[in-house]
Amino acid sequence: MRKPIIAGNWKMHKTISEGLFFAKALVTNSQIREAAAQVDIIIAPPYTAISRMAELVQNAPIALAAQDIFWEEFGAFTGAISAPMVKDAGAKYVIIGHSERRQLFQETDAMVNRKIKAALQYDLIPIFCIGETLAEREAGEVTAIITKQLQSGLSELTMAQLTSVVIAYEPVWAIGTGKTATPEEAEAVHLTIRNLLVQKFNPEVAAMVKIIYGGSVKASNSKELLSKPNIDGALVGGASLQVDEFMGIISHIF
Ligand code: PEP
Repeated sequence: MRKPIIAGNWKMHKTISEGLFFAKALVTNSQIREAAAQVDIIIAPPYTAISRMAELVQNAPIALAAQDIFWEEFGAFTGAISAPMVKDAGAKYVIIGHSERRQLFQETDAMVNRKIKAALQYDLIPIFCIGETLAEREAGEVTAIITKQLQSGLSELTMAQLTSVVIAYEPVWAIGTGKTATPEEAEAVHLTIRNLLVQKFNPEVAAMVKIIYGGSVKASNSKELLSKPNIDGALVGGASLQVDEFMGIISHIF
């Protein structure tokens, strides 16, 4: 049984005090413990807020994620943040290969693979993002793109390591656009991903991997998406910035 995940990706939003305000509202929500028995709740704030938010949620069933890491441990890499640094700040997860990193910061599949390996080395759970652009979907290339991203991103990982990876299918055309893949479209790709994991690893390991969906998920459309057998949760951008909306998505699971 795969425990679902609802993860909020705040991107470049919220100061430390805004992050603390949100975390406090979540921690004091009367339903949070009941919810957390059924769903893993994760927030990925900007780096600057991780440490203070980690103090606030330390006794609550809420985990924190970093939005990215660099693969080196330390050194002359101005502006970069490493896996041990975000771990030290209180992150348990790290988002890797988000399409905004790939498109705006020229991250390649090879770089994504190095980051995933660095995360695993420091006991961070990677939330590994993959997904096709609209042009690729219209050209009928979804499976080819997903296969390439998956093969490269998971290259040289052991089976044991794979069970610690969360895969996020995020069609690029659905991120921040208000357009969501239909539950059927998303489920079809999630099933393709699981079948690729069966081929690359084995059925038992593939059945353990959580595959979550991202792309304009909100309270009003999450119920149907989350009801699909291979959709193990959601990575939520815009709708994770408001407590009520975020809790609305979570409430569809418990
Ligand atoms: C995301 O940032 O991963 C995302 C899915 O954003 P949004 O929910 O705003 O589309």
